[in-house]
Amino acid sequence: MILKPYAADPLKTLGRQYIETKSSTRNDFQRDRDRIIHSSAFRRLEYKTQVFVNHEGDMFRTRLTHSIEVSQISRGIARTLGCHEDLAETIALAHDLGHTPFGHAGQDALNNCMKLHGGFEHNLQSLRAVDYLERRYASFDGLNLTFESREGILKHCSIKNAKTLGSVGERFIKKKQPSLEAQIVNIADEIAYNNHDVDDGFRSGLLNFKALMENNLFSRCAKVVDETYSNIKDSQKINEVVRRMIHLLIEDVCAQSKKNLDDYQPKSIDNVRGLPHLIDFSPGVKKEQHELKQFLRRAMYEHPHVDKMTQNAGKTIEKLFAYYIKEPKAIPENFSMDRMDDSARVIADYIAGMTDRFAIQAASKL
Ligand code: MG
Repeated sequence: MILKPYAADPLKTLGRQYIETKSSTRNDFQRDRDRIIHSSAFRRLEYKTQVFVNHEGDMFRTRLTHSIEVSQISRGIARTLGCHEDLAETIALAHDLGHTPFGHAGQDALNNCMKLHGGFEHNLQSLRAVDYLERRYASFDGLNLTFESREGILKHCSIKNAKTLGSVGERFIKKKQPSLEAQIVNIADEIAYNNHDVDDGFRSGLLNFKALMENNLFSRCAKVVDETYSNIKDSQKINEVVRRMIHLLIEDVCAQSKKNLDDYQPKSIDNVRGLPHLIDFSPGVKKEQHELKQFLRRAMYEHPHVDKMTQNAGKTIEKLFAYYIKEPKAIPENFSMDRMDDSARVIADYIAGMTDRFAIQAASKL
């Protein structure tokens, strides 16, 4: 790994909240990654909805496979740009840990339930999971990750909440950027979900070639596939198109970001934090990527089938929340024990941690 001066460096980390002896075999970012992989929140991603509810089919993406795809794309971009691959991997694997069951529908419903109790933000919840909710160590709550991993996990945050977070919240108040590794994961997340949603959308029958061809990015890549293979099945063709789209987007991000880095010449990670964000698509591809996102919103996320799931998900979360507010003792004691938070927050943490299946079963028992 050849690191550029602007890369994050585990030897110069801003450190962990609780001081620990260094590992003899792993750098601090690798250690963070390993803690995430061994966490229970990470294992539960397997049974959490990305777009399709987990029981709708075994071949659709879940939050776990999505996170692994984001990690794969992030590592490739990080390596190409001379950034720290281990930190990018760590942030990618942790970036969705705070997601509720049932994807965005679940998060919106929980946020609504928490309106009078400080709201619910999934990015903040991801940080909360690694800082506090995971209980694996005798000396502290949470995973005691490095500042750089925590900075990357907290992708968005309201100013109100940022003010309560100490150093990791400061950049939202001062309008600064996170590390390049965190910026890489943001864009890799977008590349991953746009492409796997095209793939899952096609396989589920919600999207077809004719509709997909309205997108510039898709039709550009489909044209190359048609020129290369004259007679292939649609199921093969979709794979060939999607892999070309991913490749095109990654190459574009690397080229544009290299140019931005050349223009600004950041000399350190701290320098990076004070500059505009540097990891980006070229303007043309950015526009195409945005159009694809809009298309997926219309054709897939707002599709009556997905919409029905959304409504059911919202009802399940509301039902659970209303029940636990009335019966806080129904929350397992090993979860609520020693908690300083108000009971609504404990309930939100408990519901957010549920898998789709667990939430459905718990709600149906009420
Ligand atoms: Mg994601």
